[in-house]
Amino acid sequence: MKNLVILGGGYGGMKILNELLPNHLPEDVQITLVDRVPYHCLKTEYYALAAGTISDKEIRVAFPEHPRLAVKYGEVISIETTDRKILLKNAEPIAYDELIIGLGCEDKYHDVPGADKFTYSIQNIEKARLTYSVLNNLGPGSVVGIVGAGLSGVELASELSESRTDLNIKLFDRGNHILSAFPERLSKYVENWFNKNNVEIINHSNITKVDENSLYNHDQQIPCDVVVWTAGIQANEIVRNMDGEKDRMGRMVITPLHHLPNDEHIFIVGDCASLPHAPSAQLAEGQAEQIVEVLKRRWKGEEPPASFPQIKLKGILGSLGKKHGFGMMADRPITGRVARILKSGILWMYKFHQG
Ligand SMILES: Cc1cc2nc3c(=O)[nH]c(=O)nc-3n(C[C@H](O)[C@H](O)[C@H](O)COP(=O)(O)OP(=O)(O)OC[C@H]3O[C@@H](n4cnc5c(N)ncnc54)[C@H](O)[C@@H]3O)c2cc1C
Repeated sequence: MKNLVILGGGYGGMKILNELLPNHLPEDVQITLVDRVPYHCLKTEYYALAAGTISDKEIRVAFPEHPRLAVKYGEVISIETTDRKILLKNAEPIAYDELIIGLGCEDKYHDVPGADKFTYSIQNIEKARLTYSVLNNLGPGSVVGIVGAGLSGVELASELSESRTDLNIKLFDRGNHILSAFPERLSKYVENWFNKNNVEIINHSNITKVDENSLYNHDQQIPCDVVVWTAGIQANEIVRNMDGEKDRMGRMVITPLHHLPNDEHIFIVGDCASLPHAPSAQLAEGQAEQIVEVLKRRWKGEEPPASFPQIKLKGILGSLGKKHGFGMMADRPITGRVARILKSGILWMYKFHQG
């Protein structure tokens, strides 16, 4: 029996399972899924978990069940490509024939002193829970600094401002306008929303240091009771430690068929893969579909295609609390209640399809 090992049951790993398990897994192939969390987590909702507006249970989805799927709960510590083995913490190594690495990403602190030690995170479930705990235990009038005003910083700031109207929230951003990846019209819409909802935006900021109860903007000390870091990501450390070419986010460079250039049995999916788009759940799923196509062809003894068409992304939606939103759909800006309803609808559909 051949072993297809999937590291990480995130958006990429789950899509691969959902595509293969119903009826595309040959009789002589079994799958081993390894994750340090015993269920699939809806990472796109971590901002709401941290803000205290949804419960933990709402963002958990059970892994699928299948006679030829073994789910291994554990922490991956290293990938031994020469021996084709995965090393786990306090458990036996796992041998693979084919490997798919979908371990997601981590915060990137850009060498800002103290940022790794004194800031909170929403990049994994354990850290998002801790962030929930510190934010929701704050007394009235406490100051929360959120560093980085991309999608996740904006979603966290807005959700928290609705959840805790008594807090003083400061959103630090490098640019002229927040949400630099979006058209200016959308940035201005979101800035207006923040002005009306008691979130202070600090543009042109450059965080030079963080310590226990303050951050330093251009070396000027600003007292903060809690600082949350949403100012950049990089590939999971396990991937950053692998041999091979990586991009500036530590993501592995891959071929058009999503495997390593020097090993066609190791595929990289999602936030660990160097792709010409911003990392997203949607992208991880699109890539997963193409990886499944390669595997299916190979298992049938057919040649996989030389390359795939570009992955089609439907757009991106962000929330501003529970009633408003913003985003780009089919290259058109969209704001207000409709954007929020669409975002909730997409989440509902995702959960529905996961059973
Ligand atoms: C607040 C926020 C909002 C977002 N909103 C959107 C959005 O609206 N739309 C969108 O498309 N994307 C959004 N994203 C991005 C999206 O969540 C990621 O791009 C997506 O999760 C990447 O999927 P993945 O499969 O690569 O990794 P993940 O979904 O992160 O899965 C990685 C898995 O690996 C496991 N793992 C990690 N390390 C180890 C280890 N050492 N051992 C064992 N298991 C391990 C984790 O437990 C996890 O299950 C958002 C992200 C954040 C933080």
